[in-house]
Amino acid sequence: MLPESHTSPLVSRRSVTFGLGAMALAGLPPQGARSASPNRIRIGDIAVTALSDGHFELPSAAFSPWPKEASTHPLYVGAYAWLIEAGNRRMLVDTGSGNTLRGKHPNTGYLPMALARAGVTPDQVTDIIITHMHADHIGGLMHGEVAAYPNAMLHLCELEWRYWAAPERPQLVAPAQRPLANLIAGLMDRMAYRIAVHRSNGDIGSGVWLEDAPGHTPGHQIVHIASGTQSLLLLGDVLISGTLQFAQPNIRYVLDDDPEQAALTRTGLFDRITADEILFAATHLIDGGPHRLEKTAVSGYRAQKTQTF
Ligand SMILES: [Zn+2]
Repeated sequence: MLPESHTSPLVSRRSVTFGLGAMALAGLPPQGARSASPNRIRIGDIAVTALSDGHFELPSAAFSPWPKEASTHPLYVGAYAWLIEAGNRRMLVDTGSGNTLRGKHPNTGYLPMALARAGVTPDQVTDIIITHMHADHIGGLMHGEVAAYPNAMLHLCELEWRYWAAPERPQLVAPAQRPLANLIAGLMDRMAYRIAVHRSNGDIGSGVWLEDAPGHTPGHQIVHIASGTQSLLLLGDVLISGTLQFAQPNIRYVLDDDPEQAALTRTGLFDRITADEILFAATHLIDGGPHRLEKTAVSGYRAQKTQTF
């Protein structure tokens, strides 16, 4: 079935130029970001590079139930975006946090440096695919009032856009999500991009398409990349902690919009990935490269990196 997609005049593109020099960030990147080299793999004719935006340390209270056997230290999770190079297109999957979360999470916002290490300048990015509109995925879209990727078409899920665009959204979400909803509203007001709105399972072309994966947010989507006989799924925030949620997929995360649906989506995808032996990566795994998944003897799953990044 052909996906329904259309471009929207929701936000008109402004003509801006943006040089890499202007993206210089205050301070040095964390050690991990500074030492990492570009992490490029091939899926058939398509090159996919994991780009580290830094990392988060999340409190144990963000997950429930917290497993008895787990330590109560803050949980370290990664923050990845990906570069997809297919033909003459350079597509970015998510944009990291930019400077939106640095007050609370100082080790975030390093995606521009990772992109530079991959040999790509912001003006060479042709498309930006957004898995969902949380600040750690869209915060890097704008630098103040200018588009960080001035020539890119922004691909969004219509349901996700409409959900966050509702003026009353900050009042409707759970109190824990209110600061995030306000931050997203501010970002949406400033998005100076051409936008392609995809109604469901949008086809981005060049062997890349979106698949609905609701729960974390209503319009959360994963990215499916396929070329030749190879496939890779970029799971976005289908899971937040590999440490916890592979073994126990029913563990909830505090910012899941619909935790029960999120768990159903997570388990369904884990089952599909194991059955079909599909490679996958996810935003908040400690390593943003490709993994394989297997079922364990008990009820959970176990992931393994397929190569070192
Ligand atoms: Zn996230």
